[in-house]
Amino acid sequence: MTGRVLIVEDVATNRAILEAKLVAAYYDVETAADGLEALAKAVATPPDAILLDVMMPGMDGFETCRRLKADSNLAHIPVVMITALDGASDRIRGLEAGADDFLGKLVDDLALFSRLRSLMRVKLMVDELRLRDETSEVLGLGGCPVSTDIAGGVIQVFEGEPKTAEETRLRLAERLGDQKVRIEAHALDGLTLGDAVALVERRRPDVILAAGDAAGFDGLRFCSQLRANPTTRHAPVVTLAPPGDLQMAATALDLGAADYLLRPVDWCELAVRLRSQLRRKLYADQLRDSMRHTVRLAAVDGLTGVFNRRYAISHLEAMIRRATDAKTALSVMMLDIDRFKSVNDRFGHPAGDAVLKEFATRVSANVRGLDMVARLGGEEFSVALPETSASAAAAVAERVRAAVEAPRFRDAALPGPLEVTVSIGVAAMRLGDDAERLLARADSALYASKNSGRNRVTFADAA
Ligand code: GH3
Ligand code: MG
Ligand code: MG
Repeated sequence: MTGRVLIVEDVATNRAILEAKLVAAYYDVETAADGLEALAKAVATPPDAILLDVMMPGMDGFETCRRLKADSNLAHIPVVMITALDGASDRIRGLEAGADDFLGKLVDDLALFSRLRSLMRVKLMVDELRLRDETSEVLGLGGCPVSTDIAGGVIQVFEGEPKTAEETRLRLAERLGDQKVRIEAHALDGLTLGDAVALVERRRPDVILAAGDAAGFDGLRFCSQLRANPTTRHAPVVTLAPPGDLQMAATALDLGAADYLLRPVDWCELAVRLRSQLRRKLYADQLRDSMRHTVRLAAVDGLTGVFNRRYAISHLEAMIRRATDAKTALSVMMLDIDRFKSVNDRFGHPAGDAVLKEFATRVSANVRGLDMVARLGGEEFSVALPETSASAAAAVAERVRAAVEAPRFRDAALPGPLEVTVSIGVAAMRLGDDAERLLARADSALYASKNSGRNRVTFADAA
């Protein structure tokens, strides 16, 4: 996975060396010689990642990073700081400025490329979510939530021994507890891989810190299983590797770990790294939730809360495919309120709306949860009933008809209890049907109900 990388470095030879390495690995490379040039280039064409030198004349790397992260259009671009110093305090300053990662100046290629790959992977996902969120904003379906609060986040720690697990929990709680982050710790000692995965499935943490080097436990396989499991894969995994074991760290990143830290653990750095993972995860969660909300908005009729026509037709096609494959029955009902126009004419449009809402409620209450109720338009509704034969569907339709007829509709928008009736047509799926044909047969049955006096159910083959 390649992408566009912006290298920010004041020393021309260092810049050229790094550029050559990345170009050889098929990255598109842009360069900047100082912080201001970097900011201008990032704004002009946002890169997929930024490699940022710490020590530069004028605006240093920390300040450049802070400014990048303060721009809501650039904040999601991963920044890797490149430092000559190996001091932990420098790393912490950088991470506090919002850097996503750190590499030493004499960076080995393994670490460089596996880090870049892992950051790009995360960026790709965030990009996709941002894109969908923008689309929904354009459609007027909701805005972009950008909160980087980490309160309420849960970190689950897996260390080798009970004692180390507890120590890790305490150290992290000291540093993150006041930000309302919960930390839970487990010892891997005596756990099977399955036990550990089950603990994550049950607790659904936001970030997982896992020892890659616990005795008798395959920490790397743990990481790859968590990534493959749909209930756990959204939680980033941070792996602890033995001193100097960059090979394990790189493997962990390739298996989908979001980050690693080498032992001996620097608690401050670990806390800051976990915080940055937590921020990213909670941000992605918010985007995902807003998407679900958007999908719901796009699928549901605003007045009655049942599915809208567009969703109903496309989902009915899927139901037909499934029933055809599984050789099970599928029936549909078409429903149309009788003389509905006269409700509007006599009592006004709000009264008509109230009738539509109550009607949808009664229909929904008289079918199963897996049946799909939809408003196709106006006062016309449909219900799709999976695994339901024609005769069973006719019985359901009769129950619905009776439930609409009595008791009378009551609402503040109506002058008094109002008698409402419905005509229904029922059709069963035949081999080779698509949604349109199946609904058309139910529709002819519905019009037979209308023509023979309304307030009745007609079955298609009898129509
Ligand atoms: P029939 O028994 O033959 O079905 O007669 P009908 O009056 O129910 O049917 P018709 O199709 O003539 O009238 C439907 C009316 O539904 C006309 C339209 O103004 C009204 N309508 C459609 N959508 C809405 C809505 O969202 N709210 C309200 N209040 N009325 C609506
Ligand atoms: Mg009608
Ligand atoms: Mg009508």
